[in-house]
Amino acid sequence: MKHKQLESFNLDHTKIVAPYVRHSKTMPVPESNYEINVYDFRLKTPNIVLLTPQTIHTLEHLLATAIRTVFPERCPGCKVIDLSPMGCRTGFYVTILSPVGGLALQQVTDAMKALIPEAHAIEELPGATIETCGGYLEHDFDDAKRELVLLMKQELVALQNPPFLS
Ligand SMILES: [Zn+2]
Repeated sequence: MKHKQLESFNLDHTKIVAPYVRHSKTMPVPESNYEINVYDFRLKTPNIVLLTPQTIHTLEHLLATAIRTVFPERCPGCKVIDLSPMGCRTGFYVTILSPVGGLALQQVTDAMKALIPEAHAIEELPGATIETCGGYLEHDFDDAKRELVLLMKQELVALQNPPFLS
């Protein structure tokens, strides 16, 4: 069986520099005025220094918690469906339900900028017990906080024209 090539596998990962936010796809929600948009929230430039499994896991808990507060304030009418880690450990996929055509990339990027200090301000790691997490010992709170401080000092770019492989 021939598989369809994923859009992200056509992105030239040697030509992208993190941190950035990129819109990767839009899916209409049938019989509604809403659509689902998926974004890359890339924290690390690919194939240089990856986040450790512990650090990306802790960042997932912090960012997934904080985004539910930040996003509705920044993008009224939008709902966060998901924030989940990339398997390559360089960032996250962010999935948002929004009114059709109602969400600009810069607006999402600004919301992600606001998300970073909000996640950093969380003092106790949410959902990190044996009952609430599938790998509760695989966390690194200090390193995740260090990564968030680093991100606050960097410029988060709205990547308007991503480099694709021809
Ligand atoms: Zn977990």
